[in-house]
Amino acid sequence: MKLRFYGVRGYVPTPGAQYLRYGGNTCCTVIYGTGGELVVLDSGTGFCFFGDELLAGPHGRGDGELVLLITHTYWDHLLGLPFPGVVHLPGNRLHIYGPDSARGSLEIVYDGLLSPVYSPVYGLAHIGATHTFQPISTEPFQVGGLTIRALPLSRRLNSPIWAYRVEEGAASVVYITDVRYTDAQIWQTALTFARDASLLIHSAPYTRDEAVEDYGHGRVEDAIELALSAQVRQLSLFHHAPTRTDDELDALLAHYRAELAARKAELMLDVATEGPLLDVLDLHRVRPAEREIP
Ligand SMILES: [Zn+2]
Repeated sequence: MKLRFYGVRGYVPTPGAQYLRYGGNTCCTVIYGTGGELVVLDSGTGFCFFGDELLAGPHGRGDGELVLLITHTYWDHLLGLPFPGVVHLPGNRLHIYGPDSARGSLEIVYDGLLSPVYSPVYGLAHIGATHTFQPISTEPFQVGGLTIRALPLSRRLNSPIWAYRVEEGAASVVYITDVRYTDAQIWQTALTFARDASLLIHSAPYTRDEAVEDYGHGRVEDAIELALSAQVRQLSLFHHAPTRTDDELDALLAHYRAELAARKAELMLDVATEGPLLDVLDLHRVRPAEREIP
């Protein structure tokens, strides 16, 4: 199982020169199964670039399939979906999983994003590829050889937030975003879900000593404590704050790696970076000290 980050930024894209090394697109991560499975975690603006790359293969001939796991419908997790040519080519088939809102199903909510108020597409009925919205539950399901598990972590009515776990053999990736650990039950639920994962991808735009209203995220320290408690092998922080420059991310990573080293923790810490293709298991054979900050 391999993985590539196409969007690591939270809230809004950050195209400035000071964000180039880690990347400035909003949330989108792609998992590649060894059997050719493609699973997309969230479709922020990073999805535009992934979708364009797909045009070189069967998706460019209108003969492609794609599974999307949407955590919630805030713009930074959804806004890239209507743009790439791959979703406009008849014949392509998108299977979209995600939570429904009290305001309507995921299909209705997304159809609203394509309405003439926001988009020249004029709604789902006028988009080329087939979009199938799949009901989501805590019942595991298969995408080829990948096992997918989903878990509600916030029961907010208008935009509930779910987490995902993707497993293939010994490799497992857990993706948790936009969750603040306001009570012991949410913490325990997340901990159980992330237990023994090869890789935990966790939103962490701010640290505990930054007094910022972040609309519902755990802090860097929360992500680290969760990863340690769940005995995760590697933690990748993402959903970086739009103001966090590359140099500041370098410093943040160095600071928390030093803290982990002082605690003699086995956990490998990284900061999600757009671009490199990562092998989910091979990641762990490289010790933090041997890896260069990109
Ligand atoms: Zn977000």
